[in-house]
Amino acid sequence: MQSANGAAELKRLLAEAKHVVVFTGAGISTESGIPDFRSPGGIWQQMTPIYFDEFLASQEARNETWRRRFAMQDIFKAAAPNRGHRAVDALVRRGKVSCVITQNIDGLHETSGIPRDKIVELHGNTTYATCLDCGERYEIADLRAIFERDGAVPPCDKCLGHVKTATVSFGQAMPVLAMQRAQQETLACDLFIVLGSSLVVYPAAGFPQIAKENGARLVIVNREETPLDRIADLVLHAPIGDTLGEAVGVN
Ligand code: NAD
Ligand code: ZN
Repeated sequence: MQSANGAAELKRLLAEAKHVVVFTGAGISTESGIPDFRSPGGIWQQMTPIYFDEFLASQEARNETWRRRFAMQDIFKAAAPNRGHRAVDALVRRGKVSCVITQNIDGLHETSGIPRDKIVELHGNTTYATCLDCGERYEIADLRAIFERDGAVPPCDKCLGHVKTATVSFGQAMPVLAMQRAQQETLACDLFIVLGSSLVVYPAAGFPQIAKENGARLVIVNREETPLDRIADLVLHAPIGDTLGEAVGVN
């Protein structure tokens, strides 16, 4: 159902719910200045993705991956949580939201104050890097300085494995524990709220469907239509920050 008085409808559904899961995509962070992928002018209209097997197979693909990442660094570094993130944080602090499942890699839910154990990062985190073989952590600023000096990010100094942002690339396996946790939380909720996702990236986009099939109510707040609008109880094609901020009473 589409609603003219969206924030009020959402407020009512929140009041009626006991266990809410919030599911976020790139759309919640556009108001923090981070472009999404699929909006007009989004990242995929400017460049094609590099698949995980290409990253493993080719030095040139690794260099290009890092070039793109460092080109985004000033944006990621400057980004601060916006009204949407703050409203989600308020719902967690009130005990209304038990878990935030995010496809985002920007770490902004954690920066907004939500405890780590309430956040499930399905696609990892780009604010740091790890060795693909031994898991050693590397900081982006350090790697960037080396890249600018040498033209490449060196292999892991512990085990010579490839170093990559701690994100899940296309073609890379999903994190098993995060997927399990997301599944459990989805099955335990009575209200599932999607904020800013085109709902076309699987398996992540399967969670709203699982929630709905399991009897939870489903709300989608997204500027554009999504393939799951037709099964949702409430669809708001509206900006996330103002809509959720108003529904939750957060500025
Ligand atoms: P997407 O780009 O496919 O879709 C984002 C959706 O959000 C669009 O449908 C757009 O209409 C909507 N949107 C944008 N700004 C909005 C706003 N202010 N209010 C309401 N709606 C808004 O994003 P996705 O579904 O998350 O899938 C993209 C993948 O890209 C994810 O897996 C994620 O890992 C990655 N990604 C992450 C970031 C980030 O961490 N901030 C940014 C870009 C991409
Ligand atoms: Zn290593």
